[in-house]
Amino acid sequence: MSARIIDGKTISADLRGKVTDAVHRLRRDRGIVPGLAVVLVGNNPASRVYVRNKSKAVTEAGLRSFDQHMPEDVSEAELLDLIARLNADAQVNGILIQLPLPPQINADKIIAAIDPDKDVDGFHPLNAGRLASGLPGLVPCTPLGCVRLAKTVHASLAGLEAVVIGRSNIVGKPVAQLLLAENATVTIAHSKTLDLPAVCARADLLVAALGRPEMVLGAWIKPGATVIDVGINRIAGEHGRPRIVGDVAHAEARGIAGAITPVPGGVGPMTIACLLLNTLIAACMQNGLPAPKI
Ligand code: NAD
Repeated sequence: MSARIIDGKTISADLRGKVTDAVHRLRRDRGIVPGLAVVLVGNNPASRVYVRNKSKAVTEAGLRSFDQHMPEDVSEAELLDLIARLNADAQVNGILIQLPLPPQINADKIIAAIDPDKDVDGFHPLNAGRLASGLPGLVPCTPLGCVRLAKTVHASLAGLEAVVIGRSNIVGKPVAQLLLAENATVTIAHSKTLDLPAVCARADLLVAALGRPEMVLGAWIKPGATVIDVGINRIAGEHGRPRIVGDVAHAEARGIAGAITPVPGGVGPMTIACLLLNTLIAACMQNGLPAPKI
């Protein structure tokens, strides 16, 4: 039997619609318009596309967009100065630094300079610590999207055997923390894991975030499991045309899993929707209002 496809496009459109409605109510009832500043450094073509898509989504949801474009050779001091100004600007509720940054910039130092209450990417060490401690805070967007997708399949994740492949600060670790907070039994696998197929075979819920094109094979997947494929890998397709694939061998996994996200059209669209949600939450927090339950 073929797995149910978890349609990230539809699910994210629904979330964006709900965020848009909540933003409208916030403006109408309180006169507050949440604002997001996306900082792009240099001319990396992929980063430019991401930033353009984010800005479009921000405007469509009724938020204010304060895009900042700095030259490739910007100094660390200049970037820190920009962040200090954005931290102090009451109209800016969220700050996102588009990664990667050029080599002269220490990304950790830049992320640590963002006001944690405006850290809509959830990468600030304080927010990472809050997540690990089970305290409220801003949570990274892609992991949040993964968990929301899994919850469209399972009403509760409690007690599920969850395996996360990847331990990056951006995806793997925060996904694992979120699944733990949902009372799943979580295993984190990584590049030094022995017998990855055997670890994957335990998973009722498998999250693949390793950045290796189609490495997770159908035979590794427990029949009926839910598979969330975070990977975005560009490979050469037919006639040398580039093709985007995930970290899971989708065609074969689809015959074994119970539900699976496609790539593209799975986790990707959820990331932007969760960024809008985080900006709304940040604006509410900064104005002493409860975070909307969306
Ligand atoms: P990363 O390179 O920082 O981390 C990859 C992790 O996978 C590492 O922890 C490593 O230990 C593990 N790993 C690597 N090779 C492995 C192997 N052979 N076996 C087991 N584990 C292995 O990558 P990242 O930033 O966490 O991103 C992971 C993937 O998710 C990438 O494809 C990236 O493009 C994608 N991504 C997608 C979104 C989205 O919006 N959909 C957002 C962020 C990242």
